[in-house]
Amino acid sequence: MGAGYGGLVAALKLAKGTPAGSVDITLVNKYDYHQLVTQLYEPAAAAKRDTEVRIPLKKLLAGKPIRFVQDVVTKIDPKEKVVTLEGGELSYDYLVVALGSETEYFGIPGMKEYGMTLKSVDEARLIRTHIERCFAEYPLDPRPELLTFVVGGAGLTGIELVGEIADWLPRLCEESNIPREQVTLYNVEAMPSILPGFEPDLVAKAEEVLKAKGVIFKVGSPIVQVEPGAVHLKDGAVIQSRTIIWTGGVRGNQIVVDAGFETEPRGRAKVNEYLQAVGYDDVYMAGDCCFVLNEQGRPYPPTAQLAIQMGNSVAHNLAADLQGRPKTPFVPKILGTVASLGGRDAVGKVGNNYKASGRVAYFIKDLSQIRYLAKIGALMK
Ligand code: NAD
Repeated sequence: MGAGYGGLVAALKLAKGTPAGSVDITLVNKYDYHQLVTQLYEPAAAAKRDTEVRIPLKKLLAGKPIRFVQDVVTKIDPKEKVVTLEGGELSYDYLVVALGSETEYFGIPGMKEYGMTLKSVDEARLIRTHIERCFAEYPLDPRPELLTFVVGGAGLTGIELVGEIADWLPRLCEESNIPREQVTLYNVEAMPSILPGFEPDLVAKAEEVLKAKGVIFKVGSPIVQVEPGAVHLKDGAVIQSRTIIWTGGVRGNQIVVDAGFETEPRGRAKVNEYLQAVGYDDVYMAGDCCFVLNEQGRPYPPTAQLAIQMGNSVAHNLAADLQGRPKTPFVPKILGTVASLGGRDAVGKVGNNYKASGRVAYFIKDLSQIRYLAKIGALMK
């Protein structure tokens, strides 16, 4: 269930790693395409077309022994081994749950109602067209809140998005004949610094690059309320804005919680060393809907690279189960983290020691994307 990074890789690898005709694989997904979620900030800021970040599943799965069902999963009953979809039911011998994460709103009043999020190609399009509309409306009705944009959260999603929007603004201004000085782009972060958890020199580099592009950071001031046209911060400041894009955090998937799987407070399911759900040997999990612990005993951050590795491991262990071979414990290998800063600029860390910035960091990020596309067989298609 789920054709995101974890689910798609699991299905493809299982199909490849088992003798033809020995397994019957069904892949269920809400959309008829695989989304390159790590790239969504680009179509959101008109740096790529939507079609460049979605890969039609029909094309991707052509010739593969995988039955694709486009439907929405609404319920899992692991005791009865049944999955309910909007359009029917499926029963299974083995289930792979790879349903991804949901937005965490932390109960901030108005955020869910008035904030936009960036979790799908459709949402990226909404952000892009909303910003374009603000620029189109302004010359006819010159209210400053139309040209004031707020990105809430300066984690990786917020930083990548704000960088790409900052790069887009000069073009938007030129097209609409609006001076750049009339446009304000805020990035609000609750913690004392942007990119919490990143090393200070990388944070400083990111801040320098983004400030030079005109991003205004408000750190140490959580957003506490959103209403139409206004974003309220804890320090009492009110930003008059028609645009709030929320990138303040993610949580597990409610369907997984409702199914009764053992979960942590943020809704991610607990799995054993083989990525099986606690108490269910016939349910494997991959990606953001579950978690594994690092050496310090803290959950690894939910990332695409982790989901891909989990998908691989799930397919390996499931095939081992079917063929009566011993399973292999999942050991993540985090290759690094790179944050795009808009255009061809980025900062990040590769391995344990190598830090990169600028075009080199961007190139590393691009390379990992190409590697992934090659792995799922999307490059040639
Ligand atoms: P996140 O949880 O990593 O960051 C959210 C940020 O919002 C935090 O810095 C948090 O302090 C801030 N925040 C929370 N409440 C707030 C409030 N009320 N007001 C202002 N700020 C507030 O979420 P994310 O950035 O969406 O990332 C989710 C996961 O995806 C992470 O594990 C991340 O590593 C991963 N990711 C990776 C990449 C990459 O590798 N390039 C890109 C995007 C996301």
